[in-house]
Amino acid sequence: IVECNKICKNFQMGEVTIDVLKGIDLTIKKGEFVSIMGPSGSGKSTLLYLIGGLDKATDGTILVNNKELSVMKDKEQSILRRRDIGFVFQFYNLIPNLNVEENILLPILLDGGKLKDYKEKLDKILEVVGLKDRRTHKPRELSGGQQQRVAIARALINEPDLILADEPIGNLDSKTGTEIMELFKKINREQGKTIVQVTHSREAAEYGTRIVNLLDGKVVET
Ligand code: ATP
Ligand code: MG
Repeated sequence: IVECNKICKNFQMGEVTIDVLKGIDLTIKKGEFVSIMGPSGSGKSTLLYLIGGLDKATDGTILVNNKELSVMKDKEQSILRRRDIGFVFQFYNLIPNLNVEENILLPILLDGGKLKDYKEKLDKILEVVGLKDRRTHKPRELSGGQQQRVAIARALINEPDLILADEPIGNLDSKTGTEIMELFKKINREQGKTIVQVTHSREAAEYGTRIVNLLDGKVVET
């Protein structure tokens, strides 16, 4: 589902060039649950954002669903991001003045879909993430774990093949973190979603089917 060939990424900071990724080869098969680990600054988030088309590689190629990101037009890429990929972030990135249902349906509404066509799907997803009794709550009325469940539901609403999560439990206590990892495991096993998560936690990483270690911009072990 994802194929990275010799990807390099550098950032130009004035006169200085920082090489963050130095030739990453990584293939992720459909149905895998991959955990990316490595020290702070090793380029984990950068790699995840490149795979998700949120940023562009300096060199190398990335294929998602057999489509090469660099040759896609911006519009095509944004459609891929919205329909084929679900994103989950450390700080949930919910819209504060929208309630749970509205936050979950946001990708649909942005894509021109109608709320009424998604009632059934919304019910199913609320069941999966365990938020059936919270549908009209605003994010501030929810715990951190519940907010992350909303973000996961939002990532699932378009039935993407691929979920990308950047430190999804980085802001949660360990018990809540475990619950969220159990939810990811369920989504991977029961729905066959491919998941790529970045994590600092060895325990969380072991929920995955494979661990990829990044060090200094390179894959050192997989
Ligand atoms: P952490 O575990 O702390 O989240 P990380 O492995 O996710 O770290 P990245 O966020 O990928 O690390 O950053 C890798 C390096 O790239 C860092 O040195 C960072 O400063 C640099 N970097 C990331 N994004 C940018 C940017 N937009 N402009 C300049 N430098 C950047
Ligand atoms: Mg990071």
